Amino acid sequence: MPRHAGPPSVLDLDPGALEEVVLRAGGRPFHARSIRAWILRRGARSFAEMTDLPRSLLPSLEGLLVPLSSNVAERRAAPDGTVRLLLRLRDGNAVETVVIPGRGGATLCVSTQVGCPVGCRFCASGLAGIVRNLSAPEIVEQFLHGRAEAVSLRPVTRAVVMGIGEPTLNLEALLAALEVVRDPRGIGLGARRITISTVGYPDRVRRLAAAGTPYNLAVSLHAADDATRGRLIPTMARIPLAEIVEGARAYFATTGREPTFEYVLLAGTNDAPDQARALARLLEGARATVNLIPYNPIPGSPFRRPTRERVEAFSRILRGHGIPATIRWSKGLEAEAACGQLRIDRLPREPGRAPDPSPQGVAPLGG
Ligand code: SAH
Ligand code: SF4
Repeated sequence: MPRHAGPPSVLDLDPGALEEVVLRAGGRPFHARSIRAWILRRGARSFAEMTDLPRSLLPSLEGLLVPLSSNVAERRAAPDGTVRLLLRLRDGNAVETVVIPGRGGATLCVSTQVGCPVGCRFCASGLAGIVRNLSAPEIVEQFLHGRAEAVSLRPVTRAVVMGIGEPTLNLEALLAALEVVRDPRGIGLGARRITISTVGYPDRVRRLAAAGTPYNLAVSLHAADDATRGRLIPTMARIPLAEIVEGARAYFATTGREPTFEYVLLAGTNDAPDQARALARLLEGARATVNLIPYNPIPGSPFRRPTRERVEAFSRILRGHGIPATIRWSKGLEAEAACGQLRIDRLPREPGRAPDPSPQGVAPLGG
């Protein structure tokens, strides 16, 4: 549990511990179950709105427990309906959750860490390094805030763990959170509707496979040769691409879920026709789709987004080699560029903390 002053939040406590607190406040065991259901099922933000709790219980309860451990500090809506939420955590840190409306329902994009230690050179989330992992309740609460944002328009039908942070570096909390998210008595989003995106540490991908729940997996490649990938992700320079692809294959073998590969296209860096052909060779026989993501510019970064023609040519070469490829133009995020940007913009205003630039020796971009 992250360190902060004050009482725990409802989801910080397992059902037994929650019951103890409720008994201490003068309530009954079924009040504890009711409080949890109000939070997870009905999206309550306060004890006062839990109409089946005795009013006399509220003052003592409010002294021992808070409903949630995060709140929406800022909300940015793009013209296409995409909404970016900046969530303030109890220790003053912040993360982002994005709500992306689609035809059948909304997709949530959730974060797993405050910052990211991997430090991909083109990513806003890695700019200031890692501050800390999110707790499982902090991950679950992103689904609650996202659902509340989406509810007036559509239900949440999908989630992608593609926000700030590297999910496999906080795997235990993520898996615990997703257990709660999948529970039909709460949020009720099934594993097949959830995609975990990872930079691909093979041992951690295997650990995720061994956990035995068939989440969709997206592996971020961004290069077809080790030298280019090492330049884009210096902290992973020693892990060969072949091992990363092998880890993805092992995920498929264990779970039966076909991984997708993500590839951020950067003009003049990894978008040449030869690089598309090399990618096709690397993925030969891997049974996977490639998701091409034209780079979203972030301030101060030396990278550029390729032209539409260049992106389409890259995609055609992959398809010509029998590799299904899709292009993901960013949806309405232009105002803030890539995920993680909103938090970075707000960093200097966060009280009492200087960003820790490189706890694992990751040089911040441009630093
Ligand atoms: N750490 C995980 C998940 C979060 S990043 C991972 O790297 O997969 C989610 C996706 O957004 C990754 O594929 C990442 O490469 C991509 N991304 C990061 N910065 C980007 C940018 N500036 N433009 C486009 N895509 C970006
Ligand atoms: Fe971390 Fe993913 Fe960003 Fe790389 S792309 S710095 S792994 S969040």
